[in-house]
Amino acid sequence: MPKIYLDYAATAPVRPQIKEKILLYFSEKFGNPSSIHSFGREARKAIDEARENVAKFLNCQPEEVIFTSGGTESDNLAIKGIVKNQQSTISNQQFIPHIITSKIEHHAVLHTCEQLEKEKMAQVTYLDVDKTGCVNPQDIKKAIKKNTVLVSIMYANNETGTIQPIREIGKIIEKTNKQRTNPLNPKPYHPILFHTDAVQAAGYLNCDTKYLHVDLLSLSGHKLGAVKGIGALFVKKGTPIKPQIIGGEHEYKKRAGTENVPGIVALGEAVKLAQNIGEKDQVKKLRNYLEKQITGKIPDVQLNGHPKNRVPHILNLNFKYVEGESILLNLDLKGVAASSGSACTSGSLEPSHVIMAMYKDPLRTHGSIRFSLGWKTNKKELDYVIKVLPGIIKKLRKISPYGKK
Ligand code: PLP
Repeated sequence: MPKIYLDYAATAPVRPQIKEKILLYFSEKFGNPSSIHSFGREARKAIDEARENVAKFLNCQPEEVIFTSGGTESDNLAIKGIVKNQQSTISNQQFIPHIITSKIEHHAVLHTCEQLEKEKMAQVTYLDVDKTGCVNPQDIKKAIKKNTVLVSIMYANNETGTIQPIREIGKIIEKTNKQRTNPLNPKPYHPILFHTDAVQAAGYLNCDTKYLHVDLLSLSGHKLGAVKGIGALFVKKGTPIKPQIIGGEHEYKKRAGTENVPGIVALGEAVKLAQNIGEKDQVKKLRNYLEKQITGKIPDVQLNGHPKNRVPHILNLNFKYVEGESILLNLDLKGVAASSGSACTSGSLEPSHVIMAMYKDPLRTHGSIRFSLGWKTNKKELDYVIKVLPGIIKKLRKISPYGKK
């Protein structure tokens, strides 16, 4: 039986070039980058090079790149770091920072915001999205309050792939901040910072932080074919942020702890390789092929997400009258790995908060599955899926508890 992996949005296999490069950092070049001897200096040099690569990828200064343990930590650092810093610097005891985010964010953002709310450390507005999963930038404008300190909107959604208008939102926030600093209208003034979770966008969309007008941007290594346990947070120079892991003076005093040198080297390589345009085009072609074949061969299939404005590697489909988990189990029996949503919620039968926010229909969440492609995916693998999937759906619809069979 073949083993076909179509769950790249959960994690990607490590690219061979990266695997080869990082092995050295587990053996000969094992030094602690904080040590001043030659072993330490060798590790430090590797980190410096990787940081430069990531900085180039984000069009920022190397000092604006903070290495973390992954996308989750980057999101936590961005949100808690900004909110907790605001609280400690604003003397007014009544001041509760306000965050604007959306209902379709990854749990790394949503649960962090919810926790801050529970602890009475922040007020949060969770914006709705339209049926394509898109946030309306005008809703952000309307949601801004005097105490708004942070807007956190993801660049591309991990379940549907829908791309958010980050540049447009960034410009709105910049304009609002300028008006707030207008000497004729000075008070109350709390600059609004803009964070985007670019974990699913990196490698496919332009992550130039200046072009996007963002102050903070999260990356994760393992989605890019680097290893698990490494990520980065772009923190624009001058952004007031409170470290969330306390210890030594690593990462420009923003994230303590001995650096994950092999992981950092891997991320540095991954962002270089991610700029391969040919590979992106190939992934898009393959994704479109899979979509066309499935929707052509199986009746009552609907796309979840924006038909065009979508990252090339994600395809989220709703199969009416069937249970998504059953499709996944049957695909798995045939050797095909896909997903019913984000990795953290798969395995539970909780309806996807993303699909719910888009359609407000639990049935739609139940029959939805995500195929996600990547650097190793080929047409032969997709042809196999296209061959086995119609039979699986037909069989499941016959025994379906969801209305029409
Ligand atoms: N943000 C998004 C959009 C994601 O898709 C993920 C992982 O699925 C994360 C954050 C968390 O990243 P990590 O697995 O590196 O912690």
